[in-house]
Amino acid sequence: MAHRSFRPRAWLIMLSSASVVTGCGEREFDEARAFRHLVDQVEMGPRAPGYPGHGQALDYFRSHLESRADRVFLHRFEVTSPLDSSVVELQTVVAVFNPDSPTRILFGAHWDTRPVADQETDEALRQLPVPGANDGASGVAVLLEVATALAARSPKIGVDLALFDGEDLGRPAEAETYALGSARFVEDHPDYRPVFMVNLDMVGRKGTRIPKESHSVLGAAWLVERLWAIGREIGTTVLVDSIGPPVFDDHIAFLRAGIPAVDLIDFQDPNWHTTHDLPEACAPESLGEIGRLVLAIVRDAERTLRP
Ligand SMILES: [Zn+2]
Repeated sequence: MAHRSFRPRAWLIMLSSASVVTGCGEREFDEARAFRHLVDQVEMGPRAPGYPGHGQALDYFRSHLESRADRVFLHRFEVTSPLDSSVVELQTVVAVFNPDSPTRILFGAHWDTRPVADQETDEALRQLPVPGANDGASGVAVLLEVATALAARSPKIGVDLALFDGEDLGRPAEAETYALGSARFVEDHPDYRPVFMVNLDMVGRKGTRIPKESHSVLGAAWLVERLWAIGREIGTTVLVDSIGPPVFDDHIAFLRAGIPAVDLIDFQDPNWHTTHDLPEACAPESLGEIGRLVLAIVRDAERTLRP
């Protein structure tokens, strides 16, 4: 998969040379509560279009975010599912903090789950939907708890949290059939240009370790290095200094639009796209590490970007 890379503008260079400030934890990230959000989603059953859990999860996200963010909106659209050619309605949920600030950063995660467990070795299991504890629920669980933390003290810059639908309806080995929600979001919002985007996917596995995803390194090396520097400053245990495989994920549409974007993803999960992608294989500590990293990225952006 090829996409254009770009040169960072002058202020981006300023950003990457500024010192990292770790702050004093005035926005708390409660990893136990985040883990509860993960379990709650899995208990709704599959969150693939057409399942009752799809609608139920949407209500859960809206009610949680509407009481915390300054504004919540839905990005709704229909697509033909690449998997079975049915027409499905997809809905991305966006929570907006500090809507008046022209300087915005975006965190994303997909909330839909894969309707087929096509990585199962047992053929009979391949038609079943995945529970999506790590692949789906984990990134969303972190962002729901980040919303609670941001509600405690409003950010000085604009912060948007996008829960993308339609990430996992793709056909195996056909990358472009994945990440439909984010692609359509970027297409339908041509004037929305956050300073950068950070995507969270499969971040909840016990003992999770996240390398530098290859498309992110090619398209936004300075941002990767910045996030890793912030991670070192706060002593995070989850970011590792190696290059990971390229993943076609919800950050790609942003990179293609010239918006710096990084995918934080642990693609080594042995339960990926199987019926074993369950909360038992996930841990509150992993969500806590990622959640505190997200809040540190917000703090850093507050210090280094013009509000
Ligand atoms: Zn997936």
